[in-house]
Order: sequence, then structure tokens, then C-alpha cells
Amino acid sequence: MNEAIVLAGGLATRLGDLAAERPKCLQMLGDRPLLDYLLWNIARHGIRRIVLATGWLHEAVESYVGDGSRWGVEALYSRETEPLGTGGAVALAASLLAGDDVLIVNGDGLIDCNYLDLALLRRATGADVAMALTEVADAAHSGAVEVDPSGRIQAFREKTVTGRGLVNAGAYVAATRWLRGLSQGRSSLESDAFPALVRTGRLAGREYTGFFTDIGTPETLAEARVSVPAWRRKPCAFLDRDGVINVNVDNVHRIEDFRWMPGMPGAVKLLNDAGWLAIVVTNQAGIARGYYTEQEFAAFTAWIDGRLAEAGAHVDATYYCPHHPTAGLGAYLADCGCRKPAPGLLERAIAEWQPDVGRSLMIGDQPSDMQAAAAAGLRGILYQGGDISEVVRGIVEEAAAGR
Ligand SMILES: [Mg+2]
Repeated sequence: MNEAIVLAGGLATRLGDLAAERPKCLQMLGDRPLLDYLLWNIARHGIRRIVLATGWLHEAVESYVGDGSRWGVEALYSRETEPLGTGGAVALAASLLAGDDVLIVNGDGLIDCNYLDLALLRRATGADVAMALTEVADAAHSGAVEVDPSGRIQAFREKTVTGRGLVNAGAYVAATRWLRGLSQGRSSLESDAFPALVRTGRLAGREYTGFFTDIGTPETLAEARVSVPAWRRKPCAFLDRDGVINVNVDNVHRIEDFRWMPGMPGAVKLLNDAGWLAIVVTNQAGIARGYYTEQEFAAFTAWIDGRLAEAGAHVDATYYCPHHPTAGLGAYLADCGCRKPAPGLLERAIAEWQPDVGRSLMIGDQPSDMQAAAAAGLRGILYQGGDISEVVRGIVEEAAAGR
């Protein structure tokens, strides 16, 4: 899944004066608007083409996002000339899509869930759309959702239930061919398209327990100004590659030599599902020695990323050191600050991703990984073989329990 639509054209009627000059997605939460958090969160899942479905205050959204390069994505624009509703907006945007699956997110809220897990749910159920669900204290307000054990949504119950319940969290994975079949013109996903899918058993849903907010009212906007910047400082698992992600054969750089370590790639998915960042930090002296080029390393990394995505998993980034202090060729002969046990790669990743260092850690299979972790102020976990998903499960459960 390489494409997303952000519904960024909504009128902010309930925000009153707050929204007079800014659409909801550009409301400031701390030092940046909600849209920055959304684009960051989408991009880190490996989604590289993002269609901004705009209407009201289109110019403000376009001048903020530009070509998308600040987030490492290609930004495209689908502009309504009259209000089309959420259904009409995605139908209009569909003409810009090329892939089979597309992530759709509301531009006035944020659910922290593994978007690639939602894509797996759609495929597994054969549904046209898979919807992220979240539990709220008052489900009647937005309509309680009933899901059967197979993951299919059976009903939306508006205003007929009271108390806790599951509601639409505003993030979906849809089949692009389904979007193309939607009628052009004004319609609503929530009131028209989704109820129609329920009637034919083609809407799937899954509950996610990660962070959720919407900024639909002045009260929830005020809360989000505190909670969203706090959410953004995530725990991060820094992962060595050779001997942690894949079996460490000498200078592995070819697809035919790649084998997962036991428990991979599920261990990465566990981190994704738990709301952790997962960042690979790896010495690649094979580049210094001339065994393979940085371009070949990049292509190999992209291939690994593709295998992870098939399993509903992703790494947020891969940082590598191409140097060697004695065996490097040409410019790669360097006593650098990035080759572990030096902490340079970790320090760069921390500066660029701004995780909560106190809750973060490094998993490696060598003493040099532990030395690099310590030098960067991180807890080190020495992995010595066995099922790494059990190691990771212990880490995320310990963190969730606040131990
Ligand atoms: Mg290693």
C-alpha cells in the first residue's frame, strides 16, 4: 500500500471563530498543525503518495504542504469546487490513484494504529473497506459499531445505545476499485457508502487501543493541543539488522542470501501494533570493502521493506554506516563517528525522529550494539538467539504495564 487520501476539506463549523482562517487540519497543536502529525504518521508506514482532498481554504493547505518533500512524500491535490461530502471527496480523489489499496484518513483527528494491519484485515476478509475502530465513553454521540467475530461490521447504531462502545476512528483502507465505483457528486462515507457496504457484508472493522483524538469541538481541540505533542514523543526500538532482523551471513546483501531470524517479521509488527517506532541501525562495512554499493544496499533495503509490508509490518527508517577504519576503499576509509560502537547513527536517528529516549531501547546481537546504546543514553537489550518475537513481546508488555 503506497497511497493515501487525507480528507482535508471539511468545514470547521463547530470550531467557530477558531477556524475562521484555518481549516481543521491546520489547527495548531503545540508547534505544528495537526496535518504535520498526520503526514508524518502516514509517511512512516512507507506510504509515499498522498492525495490531499481539499475544498474550503484549499490555498492554505496547498501552501503548507507544497510538494510534500518535507515529509519525504509526493503530495497531490484533489480540489472540490463545491462541498461534496466525504464520499464525493474520495470519489473525486480516486482518479489520482494507481495502486490496489489506499489508506483514507480524516483530517480532523488522529488514530494511532498500524495502517498496514488494517490493509491485512481488508485482504483477509475480502471486504471493500476495513475501518479502524476505537472505544469511547459515549458511543451514541457518533454511532456505535457492531463487529462480528470474523471482523465484519454488522451494524451502525446511531443514538440508540448509551455508554461505552466502538466507534469509527476515521481511518480506513479501501480497495481502489471500490472508490472508482462510487458515484461522483455529493455523498457521505459515513451515512451513505458505509451503511451500503454493511448491507452486503463488505465492510470490515477492527478495534485499536492506541492513541485517539478528534478536534471537532473547542473542548477536544484544547485537549489535543496537549495530548498530540505528547503522543508524538513515542518509544523507539532501535534494531540492529544482521543477526536481529535477518540471519547474519557474511556481508549479506543479496535476496537469495536473506533469511529472517526466528520470530521475524512478526516481531517488527508487534512493535508497530504497540505504537512504538522501529528504526534499523546497522554497520555496513561491506560497502566500505567494495562488496556492494550504497545503491545496491538501498535496493536490498527496499526489498526487505516490501517483505515487511506483506506481513503488515514496517520499519520507520534504516540508518547505516558505510565506513571502515582500516579496510575501507577511497572515501569509505574513515575512523567515523557512526560505526557502532560509536553512537553517531543512534544520535542522528534520535535527532530526526525525536522519540522519548527514556522509554526507548536498542536490540542488538553484539557487544558493540550495547556500547552504542549506552553511549546514546539508551537501554540495551542483547539478543542471543531464539524467537525474537518473544523478546519483543516482553518489552512492549512491560512498557504497557508501566514497569
Ligand atoms: Mg548484528
